[in-house]
Amino acid sequence: MIKKIPMRTCISCKQCKPKKDLIRIVKNNDDFLLDKSGKLNGRGAYICNNQECIEKLIKNKLLNKTFKQNISQDVYDKIKESFFE
Ligand SMILES: [Zn+2]
Repeated sequence: MIKKIPMRTCISCKQCKPKKDLIRIVKNNDDFLLDKSGKLNGRGAYICNNQECIEKLIKNKLLNKTFKQNISQDVYDKIKESFFE
């Protein structure tokens, strides 16, 4: 039997990868959280669990495009912080 692996696209490098290799970024009202537990509710975007993709996300402010809104630098700083903690 072939097991179906859920795949998602990274918003940073645009590669399609197994969901378990990605981290979800969840929109929570006007806040954005790095969902390391995979348990948060809300609209989410997926990103690779690697430094390169996180840095590209922050540098190019990719969440603005994904969520179609202006997201402050603070939010990006917080995402970066929680990735490295
Ligand atoms: Zn990626």
